[in-house]
Amino acid sequence: MLRVAVVGSGPSGCYTAQSLVERDPEVHVDVLDRLPCPFGLVRYGVAPDHEKIKSLQGNLRTVLEHDRVRFLGGVQVGGPDGLPVERLREMYHAVVYCVGAATDRRLGIPGEDLPGSWSATEFVSWYSAHPDAADEGFLRDVRSAVVIGVGNVAVDVARMLVRGAGELRPTDMPQGALDTLAASGVTDVHMVGRRGPTQARFTTKELRELGGLPDTAVRVDPADLALDPAFADLSALPAAQRRNAEVLRGWASAPRGDAERHIDLRFFLRPVEILAGGNGRVGAVRFERTAPDGHGGVTGTGRYEDIPAQLVLRSVGYRGVALDGLPFDPSAGTVPNEEGRVLRDGAASPGEYVAGWIKRGPTGVIGTNRPCAKETVNSLLADAPALASREIPADPLPALRAAGIEPVTWPGWLSIERAEAELGARLGRNVVKLADWDTLLEAARTD
Ligand SMILES: Cc1cc2nc3c(=O)[nH]c(=O)nc-3n(C[C@H](O)[C@H](O)[C@H](O)COP(=O)(O)OP(=O)(O)OC[C@H]3O[C@@H](n4cnc5c(N)ncnc54)[C@H](O)[C@@H]3O)c2cc1C
Repeated sequence: MLRVAVVGSGPSGCYTAQSLVERDPEVHVDVLDRLPCPFGLVRYGVAPDHEKIKSLQGNLRTVLEHDRVRFLGGVQVGGPDGLPVERLREMYHAVVYCVGAATDRRLGIPGEDLPGSWSATEFVSWYSAHPDAADEGFLRDVRSAVVIGVGNVAVDVARMLVRGAGELRPTDMPQGALDTLAASGVTDVHMVGRRGPTQARFTTKELRELGGLPDTAVRVDPADLALDPAFADLSALPAAQRRNAEVLRGWASAPRGDAERHIDLRFFLRPVEILAGGNGRVGAVRFERTAPDGHGGVTGTGRYEDIPAQLVLRSVGYRGVALDGLPFDPSAGTVPNEEGRVLRDGAASPGEYVAGWIKRGPTGVIGTNRPCAKETVNSLLADAPALASREIPADPLPALRAAGIEPVTWPGWLSIERAEAELGARLGRNVVKLADWDTLLEAARTD
């Protein structure tokens, strides 16, 4: 028998566990997560109004219910209060780290830390009920918001800012966030990219969805499109970019209606400073206009533009964080590895593996993690004969408990699910997520 710990129950952790138990009948897997709830960013990142993608939780759930897979929530690996990596290694034949990329890239501009300037992650975590998230009063006195970045997460947060109560109520969003968003006075959202429209990273489906939001007009400046050399001949573009360009061109030529809310998609603007308003909070964002440099990049023009805003959400990408005891490449934000085998001083470290965002960086969709996990499992199973010969405890659970850790097991998670269904019923809604540590742990322990 081979005992494997998978650290992280997001898509890459679940796909790793699935591939292991499907391919080897002798493997037993414990999936550990620092949170009492499984599914990683599928629960705490995917937008609540994207029910179809959220429903992928059902597939991941089947993995965690497999009779040779065990979910152990509330187990932090590494960090000052966590289970040391070395200790975990002693309990299992192999450990696969699937811990994702937990932090945001920063802009590195003055004013970035003013009140009212937040990372998209902070905002997403709040409306997704992540127990570490705080209610920062994101929408207090906000009429105009700037979203910096033109990827799918930027599209998600822009959309959530203009969604109405009627559309949010059926989601599992926590009640506090729903009340705040429903009462929001936001009328203008400016989503801004420093490069051209054909270089934006959003996908056409997500982009197009913005055009269908009730009482909201999407505006695109035709001058921004004209500046992008690729617009001269859209047929030369790859299909995905061409479809985006066609959607943007449609909005640029549409008559200006009198919608209650607007989403302005802006391009060729590089943020240079976040400016304080009279109240010491964010008042505007100063951008430098950029222009194509002829090599696929952009260059500054020395011309500036201020966009008034009381809220700034920075969405310029994610970064992995180092885990104590594991090697880390700070420039890539990943754990150095070869086909999923963790490299220590350039050599494969026996029994240590990575998969998902911490292995390859924060790119791709949920499904991209499946082949990524498979590659890691190939490496692990090829190493298995050597790994299985090491003596380990018969069951790591008593050892975890001896280390002062009382994991949330699968029945505990089912109790949380029941508590969320009951809360929803009390509020006249569907399932409503519990949003703080105490309530989650209390629900888990009432099993
Ligand atoms: C805001 C947002 C929205 C997205 N929306 C979509 C979408 O609509 N469609 C789509 O296809 N993709 C979407 N993605 C991408 C998708 O979520 C990722 O591809 C995927 O979640 C990456 O999987 P992962 O398992 O590597 O990381 P994660 O999903 O982040 O899972 C990592 C897990 O590890 C746990 N963990 C971290 N550190 C530790 C530790 N030290 N000890 C124990 N546990 C730990 C975390 O709690 C977490 O559960 C979105 C991403 C973001 C950020």
